[in-house]
Amino acid sequence: MKMNVLLTVCLFFGLAAAASAEDGVFHLKAGDVDFYSIQDKNGEMDNAVFGNSEAVARLAADGKSPSSFNVFVVKKGETVILIDTGVGGQMLERLKEAGIPPEKVNAVFLTHTHGDHVGGLLRGGTAVFPNASLWISASEWKFWKESNPSQAEKSAKAYGEPKIIPQEEKTPLVLPEVTAFNIAGHTPGHTGFLITSGDVKIAVVADLLHSSAIQFADPGINARYDRDGKAASEVRRKWMKRAAEEGLFFAASHVPFPGVGKVETVENGFRFTPVKHFYDFTVRDIDGNDISLSRFRGKKILVVNVASQCGLTPQYKELQELYARYGGEKFTILAFPSNNFGRQEPGTDAEIKEFCTKNYGVTFPVMSKISVKEDDMHPLYHWLTEKKLNGVKDAPVEWNFQKFLIDEKGNWMDVVPPKEKPDCEKILHWIN
Ligand SMILES: [Zn+2]
Repeated sequence: MKMNVLLTVCLFFGLAAAASAEDGVFHLKAGDVDFYSIQDKNGEMDNAVFGNSEAVARLAADGKSPSSFNVFVVKKGETVILIDTGVGGQMLERLKEAGIPPEKVNAVFLTHTHGDHVGGLLRGGTAVFPNASLWISASEWKFWKESNPSQAEKSAKAYGEPKIIPQEEKTPLVLPEVTAFNIAGHTPGHTGFLITSGDVKIAVVADLLHSSAIQFADPGINARYDRDGKAASEVRRKWMKRAAEEGLFFAASHVPFPGVGKVETVENGFRFTPVKHFYDFTVRDIDGNDISLSRFRGKKILVVNVASQCGLTPQYKELQELYARYGGEKFTILAFPSNNFGRQEPGTDAEIKEFCTKNYGVTFPVMSKISVKEDDMHPLYHWLTEKKLNGVKDAPVEWNFQKFLIDEKGNWMDVVPPKEKPDCEKILHWIN
């Protein structure tokens, strides 16, 4: 979107992805590459931006679309690429929270030059990212010089003449995992970036769309910020189709934070499913209290589905020993009783609690009984067991006492099968 015609109302509102959304820092591990979405500012958009057609009214009934200003970071080792710079909101603070001070940024890639994407480049005429080179496509550079010559000139003075991004998928840019592609329409040189690492692919599509509620369902609807509406809707449809076919993560600048998710084809259009983070889930403890998993931020977490009448039930002993030794600031265990395997956890929460306290002296958090497979699977277990959600691996639960390893940033790290004990080499090594 364009800054001067931006948001009539700009207010904070509750997003579904509660915990990490509040923090404004989202992290996805893709092979050796760390990908971040950083929220510069929250907001919402008046649907008048999309023309008040019947379709718009139907798709977003309350007249507004939740929105956001997201910037993206690709980091590998000491190399940091920042994609866009936001509107001048909280980006810098949040980059620091993610461990990325401005001096660490090696390259700033611009998707396009609207004010809400270049607004964080300069402060008092000097470069906010003093060690970064500035990258832009040739046609967008030309457009910038024509549409906002003084800003283009100041930026070139602060960062040096911009390096030109070839908008083709062949040429790696700064990192071997990163290439660019042409999504002209929104602006003449609008550029997307493809990050390919391990078997994860992320397409940063910037302002390819402005409302996830409206434009996935009907990619033919443009925002008034799209300069060339026909080109914008064609390239929108093309990339949504490709994302659905290739299982790409989409990362969009104005989709509600983190703006990252998967695209599916549905009748006449597409559907977007935003990613969730481990910390976005709420579970119920064994006494019936709701607990946000964000409370465990900063700890390594062993998630295990337990049962009282299983041949593996004695693993409670090793789990408790592990917790007694390492539990605290840096490590915890979260146990989820489930009756999915051999009906070996038939009891009530109260009975389960009594069982594990009396027999194993359990002091680690035990949660309320849930299902860990099939139709009634708890949403957390969908995330733990499905690659399309956790971004790493499909790992269906095989039996009671399967262990999932979550790192201190909430990333899915590994899975250990039921029969391997809680104090096996792999887990001990991981904790230490
Ligand atoms: Zn924008």
